Amino acid sequence: MATDEFKLISRYFAANAGDRADVILGIGDDCAFLKMQENQQLAVSMDNLVENVHFFAAAPPYYIGYKALAVSLSDMAAVGAEPAWVTAALTLTNAAAHGEKWIDEFCRGFFAQFACYDLQLVGGNTTRGSEINIATQLHGFLPQQQGLRRSGARVGDIICVTGSLGDAGMALQLVQKKLLAAVPSQITEDLWERLYCPPSRIDMGRALLSLASAAIDISDGLLADLGHILEQSGGVGATLEIDKLPLSPWLLECSGTDIASAQRLALGAGDDYELCFTVPTHLAEQVEILAREYKCSVTQIGVIDATPGLRIKQKNGALFAPTQQGYLHKW
Ligand code: ADP
Ligand code: MG
Repeated sequence: MATDEFKLISRYFAANAGDRADVILGIGDDCAFLKMQENQQLAVSMDNLVENVHFFAAAPPYYIGYKALAVSLSDMAAVGAEPAWVTAALTLTNAAAHGEKWIDEFCRGFFAQFACYDLQLVGGNTTRGSEINIATQLHGFLPQQQGLRRSGARVGDIICVTGSLGDAGMALQLVQKKLLAAVPSQITEDLWERLYCPPSRIDMGRALLSLASAAIDISDGLLADLGHILEQSGGVGATLEIDKLPLSPWLLECSGTDIASAQRLALGAGDDYELCFTVPTHLAEQVEILAREYKCSVTQIGVIDATPGLRIKQKNGALFAPTQQGYLHKW
């Protein structure tokens, strides 16, 4: 079925956009007009997902849509912001826009979390191109003078992570194996979900505003992302205890007896979108209380110290050498 950008916009995007009182003018004009609340700062984050870089072209479009919003929500969580307004710039291929089944499913995933956070899609851009590229921008609110940053970690702070690490890395390995198999076996929904539907940490991020000294979301792998905290906190260092890394029962089951490979995934693989944050020791108990209140597991995995660099200690005291530092786009 032939379609054009305006049919797609009205049928799939304007129709599902949401309805917030602070949107003065939404989709349909040259700009959106948005009303800020007094005493709030605007937190803005943008991400794009590129076909065959951030997602497999063969992935079910529901999961691609879900991830397109989830990566931006994760950035909001990392600074402790309350998300509100969304813009989206889509480059769609013929295959994605024609027939419209793809875009229908994509939207089902993209809008899946809108009601949960009272989000509104207020504008965007839709173009045709040779590969799919989805850019999502999220605007959220932060109380004046507040906001978690990467730069506040101090020597003596404890290092914590939410949830479990390495699941997305394992799912990626399994999906890759199955896609490459001579006779591709079916990839289960469960596997796509582990790869493309990270848990949202928005509530936890907001609750950490008054406790954490620094925070980041783990998109490229724990070592890489914690490395950003260390660097931006004036070159402090960190010592992690490898046995404390939170590994899910599923990851352990997939890894069999090879726990070291599960630990490597937890340290170096990306796409988990959990939070990594630092807290002064005297607030550690407060974090535990929050974790219980928000039903979000939090694990203390190490401490910030004065010696620059990152050390990973094993139970016997020996240092663990990771093989992968994290994901980096290179040209
Ligand atoms: P302009 O040419 O002025 O940039 P467009 O004709 O591209 O505007 O878009 C028309 C309207 O539809 C604008 O309000 C734009 O923000 C909105 N829009 C375009 N694509 C999308 C999309 N994928 N999702 C939400 N709104 C969109
Ligand atoms: Mg215009």
